[in-house]
Amino acid sequence: MIRINENYLKLKASYLFSDIAKRIAAYQEANPDSPIIKLGIGDVTEPLPAACREAFHAAIDEQGTPEGFHGYGPEQGYPFLREAIAQGDFKSIGADIDASEIFVSDGAKCDSGNIQEIFGSDIKIAVPDPVYPVYVDTNVMAGRTGAMVDGRYEGFVYLESTPENGYVPSIPGEKVDLIYLCFPNNPTGATATRDQLKAWVDYAKECGAIILYDAAYVAFLRDPELPRSIFEIEGAREVAIEFRSFSKNAGFTGTRCAYTVIPKELNAQDASGQEHSVHALWNRRHCTKFNGVSYPVQKAAAAVYTEQGQAEIKALTDFYLENAKIVRAAMEELGYSCVGGDNAPYIWIQTGQPSWDFFDLLLNKAGVVCTPGAGFGTCGEGHIRISAFNSRAKIEEAMSRIKKALG
Ligand SMILES: *Cc1c(COP(=O)(O)O)cnc(C)c1O
Repeated sequence: MIRINENYLKLKASYLFSDIAKRIAAYQEANPDSPIIKLGIGDVTEPLPAACREAFHAAIDEQGTPEGFHGYGPEQGYPFLREAIAQGDFKSIGADIDASEIFVSDGAKCDSGNIQEIFGSDIKIAVPDPVYPVYVDTNVMAGRTGAMVDGRYEGFVYLESTPENGYVPSIPGEKVDLIYLCFPNNPTGATATRDQLKAWVDYAKECGAIILYDAAYVAFLRDPELPRSIFEIEGAREVAIEFRSFSKNAGFTGTRCAYTVIPKELNAQDASGQEHSVHALWNRRHCTKFNGVSYPVQKAAAAVYTEQGQAEIKALTDFYLENAKIVRAAMEELGYSCVGGDNAPYIWIQTGQPSWDFFDLLLNKAGVVCTPGAGFGTCGEGHIRISAFNSRAKIEEAMSRIKKALG
């Protein structure tokens, strides 16, 4: 019989969300009259901005006319979107990124998961702990790790985010080849300063490593001192790839559009030491395996960069940040230390007890669902994540229930 890729057998079954679902079902059966409030979700709740919807509709109508019809588009994305991105997200903040360095795609999850394909199978990889699981699992599937032992895969260098380092991992004491970083962070909501990113860029240069910088939550940054892109940091063009998405700024989680930035200076070497362009490798991979984002969706995404679109995404992210402020204030009032919520839609809360116990406490005493930190990695133990993606009414109701239950 045909054999499977046995690396898949190393994957820790994702019990997190099925465990949560089981506990919710048990609670609801015991308490049929108390509706629960879910603050565990990493999905947006507010509708698409009007600017995007109007552009989306107009593009669909174009597709219905002989003159306006678009078949296969360029795999890398239409020039109108790549140019709007280069100008709106990079040149406008003084980051030197050209439209030709932008690869439009259907998600930052796929891009951050697929990018590892273009690198060697014996490279050394540093991953955050706690972590967005995509970075870890895709490398396990590709066979770059050993078995899982005590909650960690053999072969990775784990970058620990703890209360002691303010949830921004320090530079490892050893050399690595590939480094995953995510700021503003999911799940912690922590942010990295310019100096912290500069230290990572310098370290990568020293190692000949590449940084994969996930900036899916950049639209939530409000502190003007915090960098909006790794390409604001000197030297980053030679060591970094950045992932962005329209999911969290413009509510595209169900519409699907994102992009990856690969500067043309970025190189990696073959076994003989000869250097190759990473941009060219990814272009080859993208054109071979991906056939472009649909024309109407790219038109909808481009509308984010209009004056109306910018105002609408600012209002959307302001709305979630106000939710986050309410959550963080309530939890701090109860005496818990928190990070996040000020420049990110997630609040990371130190529970002072095992994260699943605190999860059960919030569920059973307040009817509120959070995400137990242990589900994101060893360093997530003793924490929970509360998401600000919900209606104002539900956020307020959840916090008043938690205050009553734990106060
Ligand atoms: C939500 C999220 C993304 C965005 O993923 P899409 O596939 O573009 O929807 C990327 N990275 C992180 C860490 C996220 O939480």
